[in-house]
Amino acid sequence: MANKHVYSYGAGKAEAKGQELTKNVLGGKGVGLMEMTSIGINVPAGFTVTIQTCEEYYKLGRKLPKGLEKEVIDAVKKLEKTAGKKLGDANDPLLISVRSGAARSMPGMLETILNLGLNDKSVEGLAKKTNNPRFAYDSYRRFIQMYSSTAMGLSKQPMEDMLHDMKHKLGIKNDPEIPAEELKKLCDQFKAFYKQHKKEDFPQDPMKQLWGAIMAVFNSWEAEKAQTYRRVEKITDLKGTAVNIVQMVFGNKGENSGTGVCFTRDPNTGENIFYGDYLINAQGEDVVAGIRTPLKLETLNETMPKAYDQLCAVRAILESYYKEMQDLEFTIEDEKLYMLQCRTGKRSPSAAFAIALDHATKPLLSKAQAADLVKKGYLPKKYAEMAVKPVLSKEEAVLRINSDDIERLFYPVIDTKKISVEELKKIKIGAGINAVPGAAAGKVVFTAEEAEKLAHKGEPVILVRKETSPEDVGGMHAAKGILTATGGKTSHAAVVARGWGKCCIVGCEALNINYETKSFVINGKTVKHGDYITLDGSAGEIYLGNLSLKEPELPASYYTILKWADTFRTINVRTNADTPYDAQNAINMGAEGIGLCRTEHMFFDTEERRLAIQEMIVADTLASRKDALAKLLPFQRNDFYGIFKAMNGKPVTIRLIDPPLHEFTPKDHAGVEKLSKITGISPEKIKHRCEQLHESNPMLGHRGCRLCITYPEILDMQITAIIEAAIKCVKEGIKVYPEIMHPLTIDRKELRILEQQTRVVADALIKQAKVKLPYLVGTMIEIPRAALLANELAEVAEFFSFGTNDLTQMTLGLSRDDAGRFLPTYVATEKDGGKGIFRDDPFQSLDQSGVGMLVKMGIERGRSTRKNLKIGICGEHGGEAESVKFCHRAGMNYVSCSPYRVPIARLAAAQAAIADKKGKKK
Ligand code: ADP
Ligand code: MG
Ligand code: MG
Repeated sequence: MANKHVYSYGAGKAEAKGQELTKNVLGGKGVGLMEMTSIGINVPAGFTVTIQTCEEYYKLGRKLPKGLEKEVIDAVKKLEKTAGKKLGDANDPLLISVRSGAARSMPGMLETILNLGLNDKSVEGLAKKTNNPRFAYDSYRRFIQMYSSTAMGLSKQPMEDMLHDMKHKLGIKNDPEIPAEELKKLCDQFKAFYKQHKKEDFPQDPMKQLWGAIMAVFNSWEAEKAQTYRRVEKITDLKGTAVNIVQMVFGNKGENSGTGVCFTRDPNTGENIFYGDYLINAQGEDVVAGIRTPLKLETLNETMPKAYDQLCAVRAILESYYKEMQDLEFTIEDEKLYMLQCRTGKRSPSAAFAIALDHATKPLLSKAQAADLVKKGYLPKKYAEMAVKPVLSKEEAVLRINSDDIERLFYPVIDTKKISVEELKKIKIGAGINAVPGAAAGKVVFTAEEAEKLAHKGEPVILVRKETSPEDVGGMHAAKGILTATGGKTSHAAVVARGWGKCCIVGCEALNINYETKSFVINGKTVKHGDYITLDGSAGEIYLGNLSLKEPELPASYYTILKWADTFRTINVRTNADTPYDAQNAINMGAEGIGLCRTEHMFFDTEERRLAIQEMIVADTLASRKDALAKLLPFQRNDFYGIFKAMNGKPVTIRLIDPPLHEFTPKDHAGVEKLSKITGISPEKIKHRCEQLHESNPMLGHRGCRLCITYPEILDMQITAIIEAAIKCVKEGIKVYPEIMHPLTIDRKELRILEQQTRVVADALIKQAKVKLPYLVGTMIEIPRAALLANELAEVAEFFSFGTNDLTQMTLGLSRDDAGRFLPTYVATEKDGGKGIFRDDPFQSLDQSGVGMLVKMGIERGRSTRKNLKIGICGEHGGEAESVKFCHRAGMNYVSCSPYRVPIARLAAAQAAIADKKGKKK
């Protein structure tokens, strides 16, 4: 049904099925409402206009597509039938909300209009029917407000001010205390204001209202704040928003009504507790906007126990059904619960692990809890049975975690070694609600704009606001941390910051901000724009000054899940490490070997080493070159010894010298002088030699294995250092497994020459030492020719390691060092001012179609010659989740990446293996 624009639902049935019942058609909210309806949860009836309709609307130049009108009218009729009420009815009107809903959640980005269908007549009917004029006029004034600003573009503030003035005049603090007749007057004021500015009466025809609202939702899609949000969130490929039309239920009907938002678990810790905020006698937006300070969900058990039980049952049903933590929005009307939204909830990184672990090992409800809800008639037996067992398998739990979760787990905390607890107490200036964990230090700013400006200059900033709104997302993203005076854990600031894993404290009531003087006062202390503060988002505490931060301790759930991942994955994860320190660090992160140990870094370490290599470079006879190399030998031998020892029998791939020699030459006069003194070569001659080394295209010049082809003595020295270090280990009883790797090869004969020389040197040393020392000789594959002729190279090489940094440069003909000038244009989408040529930066995520084809070809050809050829990857891509999955599928034996990305690779490798197994089963 390609041209169907509208899908209805209600009374336990949803019209959309299969392919239609997806987020790309109905949006996240629409799918949630229909699925909840279908599984028997109490959801008010309604219908959803598809995302494709919004897309068409823009294609037509902001015009509604043909056929939509009739479909909407039919859907309204259907809804009227289900509800047993008519839109605009003067006695008992049907009221509806008009809500946006994209395929991905965009908190507060698009506007919602509530209570649509009210007009001067139906409001009277509603008042009479409910015997509650206060409620009727409260609903009407809300509708006029929302419709005027959202659909008709009037500023929000004037009506807010009128409301405020009225409360002030009456000496009233909270909205629900305003009596009906005053609310009625307020409605008249609002309508007059509307007429004054729009030069026409406030629309009375509900269908006219409805079309205005639908267009408003469509238009909000391209509003600036929505575009900024999508850009920041990197979701610019979304096509548009759906429009959800939902029968109104009323949380503002009195003391037995209310509205709230909740998570089925604590989104910060992942703990299995019901978690949320609600307000009595209020309508939805009130909680999220952080205008009134909401109540804690636990207290609902006392204020409205029946509704609380219903909500507990819904929690169990939805967690069992989706097997995921849910983020819920609900309304209670006269103690009856209505669900208005469900979606997978955003969570802190440690909560992500805790939830996955919990879901795979523990039930949601105890048997007693489940039995109680069944007995009360709220929880169907089927779901009660599911809720008393773990809902996930270990595989599914591993699939739950993504690489961002891991990355964010390493977010900083305050370094309590650097500051004592007493001192910390002294500089603590206040506390708020700990909305998003992690710590951040930076300069105080008060506007999103300022945050962006300073952050752009490289300054760390903390954005301090009364509350945040969707307009602020750019600045929120730029800030290191966010602090707000109002709002709960489900406020805009908290939800957005949580999505990014950004430290955030909300609801800090003691915080008194003065935007004019650019300062705030908190518990008697004044802090000005530009002053440093530090936030501890985990504890919700605020400190004066720029405190040192450090890496946190990892939760036990992280170790368990990664251990599971290790049992599922079929490829190894190694690390790129050049020092014993890095090697040890990588082992702690779970590395199973070194996939790339670069030897040239060792030459830069100290002046002594630099001078020795420079001496080697300027030497004009073989003998003097050998003398210089002899000086380097002990350094390298020592370094290798340290690394072998740290790796204790795990394989270590050592790459021989790779960069062009000019990288090592003295760069200034003093350096030349010093070298001259040591070598006895005149400064002129040294300079001349350095100039000789100049190449116009050094990355394609005299580098890699070409150096050892022309200077075999460099090879001799390096092999000697490696093998002597290994022999030392063997003699000390330490296991070693060196893999000697020749970089940048392009030809079989080239590699054969190097390999034979390697073996001559190595075997002689091993024989002399009378030890057993197995080692491998292999090559990097980083030039397209090597990949194409991999079958020939594999006659010589015992292993391949794909150097995908160079291979990407050479395959795409893009220099990584220069691509910064134009690559962003290739990667950014058209909407962001780019050309959208690549989906990702090929230096970050492997270009699977191009470079990937060479990799696959290289593997296939290599193994056609040598069946058990060991193959890995050592470019940056080895630590990027999608690339790791590619490597698994391509049949590599291992990936290698920088130490801190090792856990990401372990997880991605496991996920690829699980997906593989699933695919094979099918
Ligand atoms: P958002 O996308 O910003 O979450 P929603 O469309 O969910 O916006 O609407 C915000 C709030 O408005 C909801 O959480 C709910 O409390 C209230 N709301 C929306 N539709 C209805 C309805 N039909 N009846 C009662 N309240 C509603
Ligand atoms: Mg919502
Ligand atoms: Mg290289």
